[in-house]
Amino acid sequence: MGKGKGNVKLQKKRYAERYPEKERARNTRKCARRRARRKAEDPIGYAEKRRAANARYREKNPEKVRAQRARSNAIWNGKRRALLLGTGGRISSGIADRLGKIQKWRCVVCLKDLSDGYHIDHIFPLALGGRHEDSNLQLLCPSCNLSKGAKHPVDFMRSRGFLL
Ligand SMILES: [Zn+2]
Repeated sequence: MGKGKGNVKLQKKRYAERYPEKERARNTRKCARRRARRKAEDPIGYAEKRRAANARYREKNPEKVRAQRARSNAIWNGKRRALLLGTGGRISSGIADRLGKIQKWRCVVCLKDLSDGYHIDHIFPLALGGRHEDSNLQLLCPSCNLSKGAKHPVDFMRSRGFLL
């Protein structure tokens, strides 16, 4: 028994089993190389295929796409407004998911299920000097957030029958 082809195959298999993370990284590189080659060979066809694949993904996962869009819009809008108003602060990535877990994915004001969409709200509005940072954020359903606007949080909660 020499070093036949089967032997090499077996060795590769054993190696992959022993170092799964290396194998994954190797596959990722392989896919990236293949994508780059396809793109170089036929850039227009490649772009069309990507567009079609993205459209299929959007069609199959509408709620994922909506949630992702809501998330990035909310964060981006907050960042932009904070910049305009000169209120500093940073928010951490993944903050919406963390808040969602804490709030059990319910609007803190009306308890509506947030799986259809949510807004990231500045508890103390940026317009009133609130900071664009984690501790000043909560998730609200779009309708509560829109009616809250730039109201003071105490006034808003009172208008909803909370607080005295
Ligand atoms: Zn609500």
